[in-house]
Formats: sequence, structure tokens, C-alpha cells
Amino acid sequence: MCRSELYNRYNSKIVDTKYIFVTGGVVSSLGKGIISSSLARLLLSRGYRVTIQKFDPYINIDPGTLNPYEHGECYVTVDGHEADLDLGHYERFTDIRTTRANNVTTGRIYQSVIDKERRGDYLGKTVQIIPHITDEIKRNVKLLGNTGDYDFVITEIGGTVGDIESTPFLEAVRQLKWEMGRNALFVHLTYVPYLKAAKELKTKPTQHSVKQLQSLGIQPDILVLRTEKELPVTMRRKVAQFCNVAPEAVIESLDQPTIYQVPLRMHEQGLDQMVLHIMGVGDAPEPDLTQWNTFLHKLAAADKTVTIGLVGKYVALQDAYKSICESLMQAATRLDHKVNIVYVNSEKVTEGNVEEQLKDMAGVIIAPGFGQRGIEGKFVALKWCREHDVPTFGICLGMQCMVIEFARNVLGLKDANSTEMDFHTPYNVIDLMEEQKNIMNMGGTMRLGAYACELAEGSRVAQAYGTTSISERHRHRFEFNNEFLDRYESAGMKCTGRNPDANLVEVVEIPGKRWYIGTQYHPEYSSTVLHPNPIFIDFVKAAIAYSETEQKK
Ligand code: GLN
Repeated sequence: MCRSELYNRYNSKIVDTKYIFVTGGVVSSLGKGIISSSLARLLLSRGYRVTIQKFDPYINIDPGTLNPYEHGECYVTVDGHEADLDLGHYERFTDIRTTRANNVTTGRIYQSVIDKERRGDYLGKTVQIIPHITDEIKRNVKLLGNTGDYDFVITEIGGTVGDIESTPFLEAVRQLKWEMGRNALFVHLTYVPYLKAAKELKTKPTQHSVKQLQSLGIQPDILVLRTEKELPVTMRRKVAQFCNVAPEAVIESLDQPTIYQVPLRMHEQGLDQMVLHIMGVGDAPEPDLTQWNTFLHKLAAADKTVTIGLVGKYVALQDAYKSICESLMQAATRLDHKVNIVYVNSEKVTEGNVEEQLKDMAGVIIAPGFGQRGIEGKFVALKWCREHDVPTFGICLGMQCMVIEFARNVLGLKDANSTEMDFHTPYNVIDLMEEQKNIMNMGGTMRLGAYACELAEGSRVAQAYGTTSISERHRHRFEFNNEFLDRYESAGMKCTGRNPDANLVEVVEIPGKRWYIGTQYHPEYSSTVLHPNPIFIDFVKAAIAYSETEQKK
């Protein structure tokens, strides 16, 4: 029986899971995550079952302990894994829910091998990088594929070919290719620089990068060349010839106005067709990109702009609030608007300048975060927003700041604070959760992942979601202190979302206001291009209404 007979778009599957490995060369930050996500989008749109995973060569067990300045935002999966921000791209492009199995680091691999060594699993053997570390990598690479739930598993290898750190991963996938034959394929992403002085595109770095890969025993099947200028056909042929790949397998990835155009460009260039062809999948249905195109069309057609202020301390770093920015863009697009996000450095917000900094905002987001730095500016911003009735959205630490500001300025609880910022505060309106009190280790020990939340009937937040039962992802140690709840409720700040099992306050809002809501959870992690999170849509809607009516007065 041939593959095409075995494949049926809706109720059958490709017999063997197929593994696509995506590597990068020449420089970092080329967008392997975007290429992987785009390929996943295309294969999904053809009806295949796809997942994407990332193998990161650093020694941290996960990025949860990394400063956003090092690695951008820490993304959280439904099962409570603190993950690389590329997993956010994967979910936003594909609507696939990733898990801990989708993001593995060198640290995790070593930890597991060392645990096995201590248990005596290798008794009598010298434990070595090859075969023990590489076997553990291989085992992890195949974990999701072995569930039988996927036709394609796309594996992005973090780092750049030639890095000492990524070598064991490349050795492991080299072995896998040898074992899997046609069921494994390599896509290598490189950069073609344009030399202004010579007025020329240069393919030499690509040739070197491929040589380096070949010297490790890996022959790429497809090359994706990232470039700022169109590559002439002759140049692609030249690359094909030097690198042992078919000319049609040299794909150009020209800079795009938005990353969400990349799936279309890749399809036009034949990336998904090439993958299917090389892997021997015949009779593949054409991708159905109708919904994707609708989104892109709305994105391009939106002619009005809504301006949102994002008050946080990581202002110099666009990746630190990646998922929030993407969620705002998705929501605004749904509402036929462009979004202009203005970063407001919370360290610089004072009573004297807050009006100047926030007066042009149709809505304000108070960002999540950790620690004392920039916190007072968030209180100043919140007081101004609350008193001027600007649509305001507090996320995680932002919600906690809403609670603290309300305590200080409405309840009259002077010096109220979170015990994270002031351990000796007289009013610990935000306090360490009971189950966090004996935790000493910093890594992976917060309240993480998706938890159920019951929303109050008739509340704005329930209206926004269109339901009273939701599930959203968390990443925090501190919580609203229920001892103060009555005082808040009688003064007008209501708890409108609660965890049904632990009774923790998950949402607060001030009902009389235009839109003043804080969520202890992070709705930005579950917002995708095709399914923007309803709370972001509702917030942006309120911001648009405010800018079109009141703000104009
Ligand atoms: N620092 C706060 C806590 O741990 C908020 C965390 C966050 O914003 N993600 O509870």
C-alpha cells in the first residue's frame, strides 16, 4: 500500500511520524522559530497533525530563572512549564497547545542523565556525551512523535551551527536521520548579507555554514536563505550547486512587513511542497489558508489606530512583553484597528509627569514583573488612570499593583504593599501564597500553568469572555490577601474571578469604571492569531470607544 492510499485528510494518519529538523547558521536571530511556525501552519492547513518543539543548548533547566534582558519573555505552557518565547510563536501561529515536552534544554538532558547515573541505571559504565547524552536527546526528540498523535514533529535546534553547545544536539539528530531515513529531513536557515559598498549579495557565509553542517555529518535537504534583498535565480542555483541541494530546495526568505506573512511567502516559494516531496508524501491536499488570509487582510486594511500605553520596567527590550504586544495586535486587528503600543518606563513615571506620559493613551496596560524596581511608577500611573477613568488592564504584577494602589489611595491603608516589595508592610494586601512559604528553590516553583477560574455572573470580565468558567495560565508566587477582601468590596473594587479550588482571587475590577480590570493570570499566553483572547478584545474595544468619544472632548 502506498503512502497516499494510507493518507486520508480527516480520519487517517501518515503511518510513520515524520521529523523535520530546523537548524540555523551564520548568525543568530534569523527567525528559525518563525520559519518552523510557518511550516507548521502550512502543514496544519493541509490537514496534517503537527507539533513543534525546541531544543535549547543552554544549561539552565528552563528559562524561568533568566532575566528577560538575556532571553526575552518567559512563556508559560498550559502544563506549567516555563518555556522559551519561541513556544509563544508556535502557539500563536498554530493554535497548538505546547507542553513541557515541547521545550528541552541541555540542562534538562544532563539532569536526567545524571539522575539515571545516580540511580545506577548505567552501573559499570562510563557515562559519556556519546552515547548517553545523545541517546537522551534522541529519546526526548521522539517523545511527542511516539504518542502517535502527530504526522509531523518539527524540531528547532536552538543556537547556531558551530556553537560548542549545540554540537551534541546536532550529533543526536544526525544519528536520527541515519535511523529514520526518509522520515527525517533537515531544513537549514542561513543569512545572505548585502554588501552596500560592493552592491552585492554574498553567499559565501551560507556555503561555509553548510560545510560546517556537512562536517558534522549532516546534509541539509532544504536551505532557507534569509535576505533583505531578492536573490537572483542564478545565485540560488549557485548555492544549490555548492551545497548539494536541489535548486528548488533553495528557498528565499525575504524580510516581511509582518512575520505573519511568512507562511504565505514560504508556500509561494514551495517550502511545504518540497518537504512533502522529499519525505515521500503524495496526494497532499492544498493548504486551506482562508482564515489566515482573512487575518492578514484585516491587518493590512485597518486604517484607524488605537494607542495603548504599556507601563513596565523592561522598556528597552521589545521581546520582554512579546505575548502582550502580540495579543494587543491580534485584538486590534479583529476590531479593524492598528495598534500603536507606547512603552512607558515605570521607573520614570512621577506625579509631575504622569499626565504628560499617559494623556494620549486610549488604554493602559500595567505589565507583569518581579521585584521593586519601577514599582512606584506603576502606582502613580494607576492612580492617574483610575481617577481619569482610562481603560486600564493590570496583568499579574499589574493586577497586584492595582490592589496596592487602591489600598493606599482609596482604603487609606498607608504603606500597603506586597510582601514581595516590603516584607514589613503594615498592610500586606498582596502576600506570599501559603504553599509558597517553605519553598527555597527559585526554579520552576511558582504557581505555574493553567488553572480554572470562576467569573462572577454579570461582571465585565464574564461579559468579555461570554462565559463564567475559564482556564488561564499563571506564573506568580504572591496573591491577593483574602483578609482584606470585605474592605475592598465595600469600597468598590470587586473580586470577579476566583479559583474554585483554592479560593484565590484571580480577577479584580471596579464596576463603575469604563474598564478597570486586573487579572492574576496571564491571558496573553493563550491568545493566538486565529483566536485572540476575549479579554484583550474587550479591553481594546473599550480603548477604541474611549478614544472615539471621551478622549476627543
Ligand atoms: N512578582 C509577582 C508574583 O510573583 C507577579 C509575577 C508576575 O507578574 N508574573 O506574584
